[in-house]
Amino acid sequence: MSLPNCPECHSEYVYEDGILLVCPECAYEWNPAEAKEDEGVIAIDANGNKLADGDTVSLIKDLKVKGAPKDLKQGTRVKNIRIVEGDHNIDCKIDGFGAMKLKSEFVKKL
Ligand SMILES: [Zn+2]
Repeated sequence: MSLPNCPECHSEYVYEDGILLVCPECAYEWNPAEAKEDEGVIAIDANGNKLADGDTVSLIKDLKVKGAPKDLKQGTRVKNIRIVEGDHNIDCKIDGFGAMKLKSEFVKKL
């Protein structure tokens, strides 16, 4: 069984202490069960790149928005996205539209 590298300093010398993992180099301790849950929320863009909270993306196609008077145009920049669980896995705010949820397959990372 191999242990993951330290999420803080990427040290390989992580050891187990009960249910926690401990890094001897930066003294970071964490619960690997919780870390795994975080990895459950994954968003992949149209080019196969992994997206993360705070990324800026642009739309790769026009998208209809329920209840909005106009479509979201291809190329629209979306700043500071947040990855969430679900079918529409990007939470964001778009100028002129407000809070919005998008599918990661319809965007690309900038
Ligand atoms: Zn460390």
